[in-house]
Amino acid sequence: QIIEAIHPDKDVDGFHPYNIGRLAKRLESLQSCTPKGICKLLKSADIELLGKDVLIVGASNIVGRPLGLLMLLEGATVTICHRFTKNLPEKVGQADIIIAAVGKPELIKGDWIKQDAVVVDVGINRTKNGQIIGDIEFSKAKSKASWITPVPGGVGPMTVVSLLENTFLSYCKRESIPID
Ligand code: NAD
Repeated sequence: QIIEAIHPDKDVDGFHPYNIGRLAKRLESLQSCTPKGICKLLKSADIELLGKDVLIVGASNIVGRPLGLLMLLEGATVTICHRFTKNLPEKVGQADIIIAAVGKPELIKGDWIKQDAVVVDVGINRTKNGQIIGDIEFSKAKSKASWITPVPGGVGPMTVVSLLENTFLSYCKRESIPID
């Protein structure tokens, strides 16, 4: 109800059903910030998405689902896993690109990951001693991955960047300022 009370043109989080629906139909929209930031991060690192097997772990409205739609737009073959998925280690082992957004510390073990896979960790988990760690066992995954994002300092700042960009885009649309 709260999200639907926001005008879709001011929906800078990109959570409104109108914007998600437009994204699903491959129409221009305000895109959800974390998925948009992940795409920007992968593109800035020249990571090819076209035809790649992308495995997303987590199917939430704010990360997994819109991220799946964005990855489809990039021409990736997308698999989305969730709490009822069977054989998660096997699926992780087949993926070219693994993106974890679950919220369970080090759920995905380093030795599940295919050699030279690209690994993106969205998870933010606080341990008992106050440390922030991701959903992926970073210490082991980094020796198998060809490219991996840290937690903190990886996806998190990109979410902030996307929020600022969406705010700017929303303003430009409202003021009819053309954007290249
Ligand atoms: P959520 O709780 O809404 O969704 C979690 C998803 O994980 C669900 O789809 C659930 O089915 C799935 N899941 C749970 N247990 C699983 C298991 N054992 N195996 C496979 N899938 C399982 O969470 P969310 O809001 O999407 O956030 C996920 C994580 O990402 C959290 O740690 C959150 O803090 C973090 N997050 C980070 C950013 C960022 O900018 N870095 C942004 C959003 C969320």
